[in-house]
Amino acid sequence: MNKLDAQRQKEIQQAEELLFAGPQTLGFAKGLFQGHFVADWVMPYPRIPEAQQLELDSALTELRRFLDAGLDPAEIDRNADIPRSVIDGLGRVGVLGMTAPKEYGGHGFSQMANCKILEEIGRRCASTSVFVNAHHSIGIRALLLFGTHEQKQRWLPKLSTGEQLGAFALTEKEAGSDAANVQMRAQPSEDGSHFILNGEKRYITNAAIADVLTVMARTPVPGTDKTAVTAFLVTPDMPGFEMLEARMPKMGIRGTATGRFALRDVKVPKENILGPPGKGLKVALTVLDFGRTTFGACCTGAAKTCLSLAIEHANTRKQFNKTLGNFHLVQKKIARIAADAYAMEAMTTITASLIDRGLEDYMLETAMLKVFTTERLWECINDVFQIYGGSAYFVDLPLERMMRDARINQIGEGANEVLTSFVALVGMRGPGMEFKEIYDTMMKPTRERGFSKAWAAGKHRLGATVRVPEIPVRSAELRWSANQLGSLIRRFNVAVNRALITYREPILDMQLVQERIANAAMDLFASTCVLSRQDAELQLAQRNGNSSSPDQLAADLFLRQSFRRIRSFLAGLTDNEDKTVLATANSVLGKPSS
Ligand SMILES: Cc1cc2nc3c(=O)[nH]c(=O)nc-3n(C[C@H](O)[C@H](O)[C@H](O)COP(=O)(O)OP(=O)(O)OC[C@H]3O[C@@H](n4cnc5c(N)ncnc54)[C@H](O)[C@@H]3O)c2cc1C
Repeated sequence: MNKLDAQRQKEIQQAEELLFAGPQTLGFAKGLFQGHFVADWVMPYPRIPEAQQLELDSALTELRRFLDAGLDPAEIDRNADIPRSVIDGLGRVGVLGMTAPKEYGGHGFSQMANCKILEEIGRRCASTSVFVNAHHSIGIRALLLFGTHEQKQRWLPKLSTGEQLGAFALTEKEAGSDAANVQMRAQPSEDGSHFILNGEKRYITNAAIADVLTVMARTPVPGTDKTAVTAFLVTPDMPGFEMLEARMPKMGIRGTATGRFALRDVKVPKENILGPPGKGLKVALTVLDFGRTTFGACCTGAAKTCLSLAIEHANTRKQFNKTLGNFHLVQKKIARIAADAYAMEAMTTITASLIDRGLEDYMLETAMLKVFTTERLWECINDVFQIYGGSAYFVDLPLERMMRDARINQIGEGANEVLTSFVALVGMRGPGMEFKEIYDTMMKPTRERGFSKAWAAGKHRLGATVRVPEIPVRSAELRWSANQLGSLIRRFNVAVNRALITYREPILDMQLVQERIANAAMDLFASTCVLSRQDAELQLAQRNGNSSSPDQLAADLFLRQSFRRIRSFLAGLTDNEDKTVLATANSVLGKPSS
């Protein structure tokens, strides 16, 4: 086996380990790639149960009261610090342990309810929402998901109230996007009572203010010469924990403390291992699924702020004797922000509900949510910035801060390029395996069973390709959109199958093809979420005898724009200038053309 093949084998093995190999219920996104509309996961639009809604309403009222009085985002940005009074206040209103079970001092909220809380914080201050995410969505998540009862009892009560803070430490110099390349070592002691950790972590939010850090380190796999990643709970009072840089000066989310630290022969008791030894990558990726969901909520909040800022300015600022809101090119921007904000909320709600309802594998949906909402928010901020003209550039308005803050979203918790490629490859894995099975069986038709298996799989694929899936909306007004969506899902499935047949294994490296497939899938998911929400709102309005709201227009606009984008992504699969793009890039990079 040559070096390249060995590397590929290793990557495939890692991917297999990460992508839950066992049998599972078909999720919504994976279904899309097979031409199915798995309606049960997305329709009807999920609702928070009434009893929890009352709890959520009261938590939101308390949170708003606290944030109105105690949170100054401009000051946090200026001082590059979130004051302790804010952290204490967030702890008091329960934000720092919202989803922790009540028996460990938390509020026991669902992800859906928690997302509403994060949306409210994201509306106001990105530093604060990132701080909360780092502590609650990812910092203590491995403990919540994989901790034993003893571990939870020991650590969670103080972490849930904010008396102690958490952080999540995966990133290293050599392990950024390539998260599997963690180099930090954890060597078991001779008596097996503890592990000795050595290495450095960088870019870790809350590192310098955390009392407990979930740290990923590489442990030997017993009986082999291999190593695998394991998750450990590390506390900064352990001898050998060295803070190299507590607050790395940075462009945005300046209030967060992003740090670098080293572990030098740090002894960590074996009781501090989280989850199965050697399964740390799966732990990390599951944790990040939660982070990506609340990321979506924070971006939704920020997009809603963009919308209200845009409306305020467009209705008051006059030029050419008219308020700006009279100019079509300004209207176009505002309408798009409204449409995107509506979609971001719908997508966040449905993704969070997948977690709450116990779908086993929601990696695709959370990755889609993260990429989609962060990209849309960037557009929203850019648009509202433009509407404000020169005034947006000055620090007395929040826009320049919002722009600086939002830029990390496309990079952190999985760079969007990496997640885009991931969405395409994982999504295509199901149909790809079927094609491979058909192909392999046809090549070696030695057993009758092989033929019939290939025939069955072939028929299944063909069946999915010909059928337009039924989208079960209840409102007659949405029939047209539902039919459009159904036929686009079919076209998407045909395009995925064609790409797999045309390119076969090399598609694993063809990111320009992957990007179009992933973008189409993301818009299909977003459109589904919008349609589901719109349907629920129309049904409610009909029951209450209300007429159409501005939200319905925004939803309608989103669907029309999303359908157009999907058509364009699919058309780009055959009509593109990819060869010239790659030749140009190779030429300027000084690489031989492939
Ligand atoms: C403010 C801040 C806070 C952070 N907080 C945390 C934290 O709390 N915990 C933690 O563990 N980490 C944290 N991080 C780290 C963050 O998750 C990483 O920065 C991110 O994963 C990207 O890694 P990298 O910076 O090493 O970029 P690289 O991996 O070097 O990637 C650089 C760029 O290359 C491109 N790229 C990389 N790989 C591919 C690919 N396969 N295909 C196509 N393009 C690719 C992408 O455009 C990417 O943006 C934080 C980072 C920042 C800036």
